Amino acid sequence: MDTKALFNLSYGLYIVSAKNEGRFNGQIANTVFQVSGAPNSVAVSINKQNLTHEFIQASRLLTVSILAQSAPLSLIGHFGFKSGREADKFAGANFNYKISENGLFYVTDHTNAFIEAKVIREMDAGTHTVFLAEVTGAAVLSSEPSMTYAYYHQIKRGAVPKTAPLPEVEKPVAAKVVRDATYRCTICGYIYDPEIGDPENGVPPGTPFEKLPEDWTCPICGATKDLFEKED
Ligand code: FE
Repeated sequence: MDTKALFNLSYGLYIVSAKNEGRFNGQIANTVFQVSGAPNSVAVSINKQNLTHEFIQASRLLTVSILAQSAPLSLIGHFGFKSGREADKFAGANFNYKISENGLFYVTDHTNAFIEAKVIREMDAGTHTVFLAEVTGAAVLSSEPSMTYAYYHQIKRGAVPKTAPLPEVEKPVAAKVVRDATYRCTICGYIYDPEIGDPENGVPPGTPFEKLPEDWTCPICGATKDLFEKED
């Protein structure tokens, strides 16, 4: 069996949020899709280790904020590489969010729509649970194109949380030209590419890793420079 075949499936990127009594949490998910139109229902696959999983099972409610292409790595990192067990992801947030009719938070910055849904069934899928949920509310927030997983990985050079259902995409074969080395964050897997720089943090394209300020940190997980390794 060639499991590389699975790399050819396409996905979006979403913030799935849930609550449990007075607590709120959200996380990045790539597996959200519409299942039927009557009633409108979606399926959401969530890793059993995640706090959001516990919250969805407790409240049977969830929201999906659909990320747009402009979503910065910092926003994805905030929901994808930090655990709600350590800190409330919505407390003191530097992004805007609103409250849905069911009393859940959804993110309104760098998203183009949100969906609110009520869980009607769940299926054990090994590492993950697939929640089937009936859509109870939804709104379009902007006309910006949705962020796809491929766009995130190839254009934004983003990394994949360990609890995502996806294997890491294979690295493209390096072109045989002399160029500054790429460096990989050993914490989250983000790749610093000198040709791209880190424009979200004021680092222009063409900046070698060695020339980054000493206080520069990983745009996704906040790791310091010494936690990066040169790629071959
Ligand atoms: Fe990182």
